[in-house]
Amino acid sequence: MEHQRVTISVRAGSCTLCRSCQLICSMTHKGVFDPSFANLSVEDSGDAGEAPRIVFLDSCTGCGLCADYCVYGALEQEKEAPAHE
Ligand code: SF4
Ligand code: SF4
Repeated sequence: MEHQRVTISVRAGSCTLCRSCQLICSMTHKGVFDPSFANLSVEDSGDAGEAPRIVFLDSCTGCGLCADYCVYGALEQEKEAPAHE
């Protein structure tokens, strides 16, 4: 079965390091509730005023769930017109 990959735009400056994105990803794809198992990494830059670093790993399936669960607008699905009706 083929799944459509979504494109996700990142606005790291809006990230609060809440880790909801990583938790929903790890739970859905790995069956564990642990941010370190997520298919994206979110790291504190360590510098006050500097945005966190958000990186999608090669294992990311492009399902878009992380963006659905980011309530701060740091991850957002880009809307694309369907190829066929
Ligand atoms: S990207 Fe969004 S959901 Fe993920 S840690 Fe940052 S604010 Fe939270
Ligand atoms: S789009 Fe990638 S990082 Fe986001 S929930 Fe899906 S697999 Fe995880």
